[in-house]
Amino acid sequence: MKDFMKRLVQVVVTILILVGLSYLFREGDPEKEVKPSKTSTNSLEIYYFDVGNADSTLIRYQDYNVLIDAGNTVDGVKLVPYLKELGIDHFDTVIATHAHEDHIGGMSRVVYNFPITHFYMPNHSSTWKSYDNLMKALEKQNVTLETPSIDQTFDLGDLHFTILWIGDSEDYNENSIVLKLNFLNTSYLFMADATGDVERQILEKDLSCDVIKIGHHGSKYSSVAPFLETVQPKYAVISVGKDNEYHYPHQVVLDKLEYLHVEVYRTDIHHTIHLTSNGEDITFDFIETDLNG
Ligand SMILES: [Zn+2]
Repeated sequence: MKDFMKRLVQVVVTILILVGLSYLFREGDPEKEVKPSKTSTNSLEIYYFDVGNADSTLIRYQDYNVLIDAGNTVDGVKLVPYLKELGIDHFDTVIATHAHEDHIGGMSRVVYNFPITHFYMPNHSSTWKSYDNLMKALEKQNVTLETPSIDQTFDLGDLHFTILWIGDSEDYNENSIVLKLNFLNTSYLFMADATGDVERQILEKDLSCDVIKIGHHGSKYSSVAPFLETVQPKYAVISVGKDNEYHYPHQVVLDKLEYLHVEVYRTDIHHTIHLTSNGEDITFDFIETDLNG
């Protein structure tokens, strides 16, 4: 009996060590516990994260969380713990707008660390290593890649989303999922890296909005005049890296926005741009985050 007890203790200790080791070596940051979502508020919050010359945007309202893109691979290392600090414990919808590193680099880490109900992405493979990593992560975590169609809508409480564009082209930027959010009397456009060609093709849609996230980090090949004139935004957000090699945002885009009296916020100047709305008014504040890997 004494021997049996000794063996039992040995078996239990071995199991505990193995469980501990597997926990230590899993993907992500094991020391950070997932906290429950913060108390629900009736305000919409949008975080345009400062991930340098890349994209990542969080939309949260009550207990609904939506993530659009996850920055570069190095950004994901900082982004995931930051999302947990904000109290994010799941995503209702995650959108990988297109298969470029600066949008999906950090995405596999997101997939490993949060339960995801819907994962939307264009159905177009890529040779990027981060694309490979993302596909592996989705498979391991049993998350289905869904490819939405143009004009598809989805609702999360008072948040009404419409997919304005998704492509299937050799030019990944042209595949960018373009999203519109309507929240009570306010509306928001998320352009990802959509080109001027895409902007011209969606001109007939309801593009009016209060806040636009400018296409392709402020590139002059996006934000064409007829498009901006149709959108008539009050505010524009540009996700862009400081002193980046492409010289984004291009002056011609800034000039057009100034001409249209649009108030511009840039992640290279304002860092993480945090928007709050009660469905009528929109306010901005800025957070000095260090998410740029
Ligand atoms: Zn990009």
